[in-house]
Amino acid sequence: MLLTSLIRIFLTRSLRPFEFKNTYRKFLDFEAEQELGLYVHIPFCRKICTFCPYCKTYYDKDLAAKYKLALLREIEMVGSRLKTKKEVTSLYFGGGTPALMKDSLKEIIDCLEKYFIITQGIGIELHPDDIDEPTIKSLKSAGITMVSVGVQSFNQKCLSSLGRENTGVEEKLKLVAQANFNVVDVDLIFALPKQTEELLLSDIEKAFLLGATQISTYPFIDFTFANNTYKPMPEKEKKKMLQSISDYCKRIGKERTAVWTFAQKNTGRYSSVTRDSFLGFGVSAATLLSREFKINTFSIDGYLNRIKNNLLPTSLTLDFTLRQRAVYHLFWSAYSMQIIPTRFQELIGRPLSKMYGLELWLAENLGFITKQNDTYCLTDRGAYYYHYLEQAYTTAYIDKMWNISRITPFPEKIVLK
Ligand code: SF4
Repeated sequence: MLLTSLIRIFLTRSLRPFEFKNTYRKFLDFEAEQELGLYVHIPFCRKICTFCPYCKTYYDKDLAAKYKLALLREIEMVGSRLKTKKEVTSLYFGGGTPALMKDSLKEIIDCLEKYFIITQGIGIELHPDDIDEPTIKSLKSAGITMVSVGVQSFNQKCLSSLGRENTGVEEKLKLVAQANFNVVDVDLIFALPKQTEELLLSDIEKAFLLGATQISTYPFIDFTFANNTYKPMPEKEKKKMLQSISDYCKRIGKERTAVWTFAQKNTGRYSSVTRDSFLGFGVSAATLLSREFKINTFSIDGYLNRIKNNLLPTSLTLDFTLRQRAVYHLFWSAYSMQIIPTRFQELIGRPLSKMYGLELWLAENLGFITKQNDTYCLTDRGAYYYHYLEQAYTTAYIDKMWNISRITPFPEKIVLK
């Protein structure tokens, strides 16, 4: 906690914390945003996994039908502000398990395409249990081009610690591979109880052999409100595991595309968070714009009520100071292993070297970054320290924010110090 506060104070040059208030705007000002992405949250699951921190509830057909209508209305409320159709990079469906609403995806996409032109594809998260031929067929006909399969591990011992079972995921990945999606991401968790380095590396090998174009390897994080009976491995073990993932992927010719992501060369990326601006629809969905960050309510009832009253379902808004916005951009750029000074200047309006010259000098001299053709690239050493910080911020910020939001539909404010 102290570490995250000190870094925040140092980088924002201010004692001011990140303060989310319950004020919300009637309209969102996003027309001028560059490289805008879209996100839709589908909060339904058939089973609830013990480790999961995301906003979700048990699937109910009637509730899902009401939710779809509210989603369409929210998209209309936001999109109809545009004077002309706006180009956006990509659209991602996350959850929950969005495939539970597979018959509604086309309608939701059509509604978005009334206002937006999606240029870089449509992605969806899939639970292995949802994969079968009819589902893949409806995803393809809805226009989905990228999938991310939440495998977590192929090993039953590791899955048991997550309250999951391997119900033939290998065969399901073969079905996915046959469908020729542009990007197939496989999510794996590392630092699980009973997981050895050998088990982890054989999971990675298997994922690529079964057709993954990318793997995302997240460390096991014990959210305070999750029902984990296990504690995460000590950081020293995690460090060793992350290093061996990186070494192994290098050996087999994969590219590190983010701190926790490795991909086949020359393939597209599945990445729903590393964008400079996005609009989020549905419960718990976040929206990031040039000067504001807002989060929708986590309560499905609260969401339906707001929409019924023609109001945006925002529960909290953060109005960034310039330096807070700069830090947010740098944080996610570093996650993608690259900080591009020209992009920084476009977004923040000031040169990176003027605002963060000292930090860049320090990071270069500590071996965290190297400069290649005017771009700062994270080294393996930098990636490890980023991984360490990301976990610290997840615990200090995201855990707090999500914990309050899941209990209180419209909190008065949340202060992240
Ligand atoms: S991990 Fe996926 S399937 Fe499990 S509860 Fe979370 S969102 Fe639902």
